[in-house]
Amino acid sequence: MEQAVDRQTGKRCRGFLSSSLASAHACGICSLRQLKPDERQNHLGQHILRWLLGMGDLLNIHLSDYPCGFCGGSDCQLAMKGQKWTSTCSLSYNFRASTAGQSTDKRPSSNIPIICKLDGCREVHWKYNFPKHLEKRHAGWQDTIMPSFVNELQVSDEEQRRIGIRDDLRRPWLVVPVTGSKRTLSDISNITGPPTTKRKT
Ligand SMILES: [Zn+2]
Ligand SMILES: [Zn+2]
Ligand SMILES: [Zn+2]
Repeated sequence: MEQAVDRQTGKRCRGFLSSSLASAHACGICSLRQLKPDERQNHLGQHILRWLLGMGDLLNIHLSDYPCGFCGGSDCQLAMKGQKWTSTCSLSYNFRASTAGQSTDKRPSSNIPIICKLDGCREVHWKYNFPKHLEKRHAGWQDTIMPSFVNELQVSDEEQRRIGIRDDLRRPWLVVPVTGSKRTLSDISNITGPPTTKRKT
């Protein structure tokens, strides 16, 4: 396994996780060994969000900028095949994105593959990796992003709470400035309503 040293703590870390660290029934991040194959996306999603928001339970692990939603590794790729996403992860499986993309008490993580709708980009990324993608590939995205797409990328406070993010670490997921003020994703969803309706101003 490749090792890296955390620059801040000096601890020796896994430089990356790969799907080879996990078997079909074991999580490659925690020691859970009874993972149902179709629970993997939800289970790993919770690890990834906790790591991204600085919860301290994964301090000895370094995830990459674009951790795979099935295994947490850095070497799995998402792509589009026609209208469907595919993954090179050996632990990938098909799931209904419309269901998996909804955070519930039973399945709190909404981390699903999403096609980037900015500037004809069409790259596919896991939802939780989009802030990184937007920063790296779409400078000034705050000015051009469509409210409906912001809604699609939303990770609500409720979802963060369900995943056990502490009060002081929960935060608005993406912040889009509007005429001198800041509005958050939840503000935008209040303003625009469901995608099929247009609210008069
Ligand atoms: Zn785990
Ligand atoms: Zn993977
Ligand atoms: Zn993009």
